[in-house]
Amino acid sequence: MKAEIIAVGSELLLGQILNTNAQFLSKELAELGIDVYIQTVVGDNEERLADNLTRAINSSDLVILTGGLGPTKDDLTKETVAKVCGKSLEFNQEALTYITDYFERRKRHMTENNKKQAVVIEGSHVLANHFGMAPGMVVTVNDGLVALVPGPPKEMEPMFKNELKPFLLSKLQINTSITSRVLRFFNIGESQLETEIEDLIEQQSNPTIAPLAGDGEVTLRLTVKSPDSEEAKRKLDETEALITARVGQYLYGYNDTSLVEQLFLYLKKTNSTISVAESLTGGMFAMELTSLSGASEVFQGGTVAYATEVKENVLGVSKNVIEQYGVISKECAIEMAKGAKHLFKSDIAIGLTGVAGPGLQEEKEPGTVYIGIVGPEHQEQVFELSLGGGRHAVRERTIKYSCFYLLNEMKRWNLSE
Ligand code: AMP
Ligand code: MG
Repeated sequence: MKAEIIAVGSELLLGQILNTNAQFLSKELAELGIDVYIQTVVGDNEERLADNLTRAINSSDLVILTGGLGPTKDDLTKETVAKVCGKSLEFNQEALTYITDYFERRKRHMTENNKKQAVVIEGSHVLANHFGMAPGMVVTVNDGLVALVPGPPKEMEPMFKNELKPFLLSKLQINTSITSRVLRFFNIGESQLETEIEDLIEQQSNPTIAPLAGDGEVTLRLTVKSPDSEEAKRKLDETEALITARVGQYLYGYNDTSLVEQLFLYLKKTNSTISVAESLTGGMFAMELTSLSGASEVFQGGTVAYATEVKENVLGVSKNVIEQYGVISKECAIEMAKGAKHLFKSDIAIGLTGVAGPGLQEEKEPGTVYIGIVGPEHQEQVFELSLGGGRHAVRERTIKYSCFYLLNEMKRWNLSE
């Protein structure tokens, strides 16, 4: 099953908006086991759209077009598809019902020209649009399918999920036997991860193993095809075990869970509270954690101790440490953490100090970061990092490393669950 996505709209080519529809559709189709071979973007131009569509129909079994379904002059997807497929446009009662319903629900007056939206390509299967006026449609061309869905993601996404996906499942007799599991790694580069499991990737067939690198993170998507969900799970478990035997120390979570979420879940699981003393991150750690609902169960509070006097006066970092080691130091990071633990009466505390850049500070390079961690039994641990990237990247990575190291430390402390 070969699929292609064509996004229509000059605004995409001008870089005014991002083609998120292609990303959404590709992701959804991958989950159905439908391989997307090509994504294209075409401006609001009949000739170029027709050329692209002709090529797409000839080489793919499923073509999905998004955009250009509106009532305005530049919206010509419907007309062009009809022309290329040698079909006419016809009024469709079902489509009109959807449009009338839409107006009634919004208590808005429907004008005569809105009825034009109820015109669809002859013989098509109409897809209801509950969030806008333009209905979608699926046309059968030769042996393949051509689907038209609206451009606005708020309309397109629910239409895909509730209308087009069920249609494709029944029409293509797809049994949803594809199961994926994403393993999330941190503090290991993509090439190192690949090297460690190269033979597993080469031998892969079912499950398949697909690496993807993000900012400081690498994920492996394991995808298994099996009609039996028990068997699918067993196969995924087996492959995961082979992988973690080699690189398990870098694995922090699964699927869409971020490092902060993982930390939050682990704090909750172990009934631990946390507080933070932040210098270079200026409150980002606290912000990230409190952006998760339920954060109050684990988060006691935080201080932004930017100036040296604040580190001394609020957190109680000793003059001695500052004079001897400076504020960009392991010693200061640990004292900041201890200060936060004392101030906020939390089980665990973290102190973050470093040079966000671009300039040097205390003769230390930008990207030099110290993460101090204090545990429930006053265990102390401090990490030194030399991070790359600009000011923004250094601060963001500091948060990620903080969560990663905290998780590792917490696991070492054997906290009861
Ligand atoms: P349409 O009238 O169907 O061409 O869609 C118009 C609006 O949908 C545009 O103004 C965009 O905001 C949005 N849109 C269209 N195509 C895309 C796309 N491929 N990805 C994300 N948004 C899109
Ligand atoms: Mg458009």
